[in-house]
Amino acid sequence: MEFRVMEVVSKGVEHSFNEELDMQELLGDRKDVLSASQLRASLAVRPFDGTAQVSGELSADLKMACSRCLEPAEEHIVIPIEERFAHVSAAKDINEDEDLIIVEEDKVDLRPYVEGTMLLYLPMSPLCSDDCKGLCPDCGINLNEQSCGCSQDVIDPRFEALKKLLE
Ligand SMILES: [Zn+2]
Ligand SMILES: [Zn+2]
Repeated sequence: MEFRVMEVVSKGVEHSFNEELDMQELLGDRKDVLSASQLRASLAVRPFDGTAQVSGELSADLKMACSRCLEPAEEHIVIPIEERFAHVSAAKDINEDEDLIIVEEDKVDLRPYVEGTMLLYLPMSPLCSDDCKGLCPDCGINLNEQSCGCSQDVIDPRFEALKKLLE
């Protein structure tokens, strides 16, 4: 997934990338990711206003640990991409307010950008289902599968005092 910024900007060269990247290494340290599909990148590079515009979409399917019960949660992630790259030599001619990725090397490899973007978009609190009941904080039982008596046994001491007053 490489292109040359200058070539895109001055010669109008366009690219389109449809690639599947292995995320094994990228997600190796993530304990919350149980398994992951290939990272699918579908991107187009075009000249736009003195920059190389990259647009398209990233997607992946992951199994993550549910943030409440730790059982596998299926996540389908789709990330729209809209980014502009400018070479450092041309950057001064471009409005500074614009959100640009300034590159020093003419040749850009989109892979690290794509991988970094995917990491940013991983869900912070994946859920196996919206109404996951989670684990009991006292006995650790999965409340989606079984119920336990813990919560009924806990009596708020303030209620105890109140009960005594009412007797
Ligand atoms: Zn869950
Ligand atoms: Zn319990």
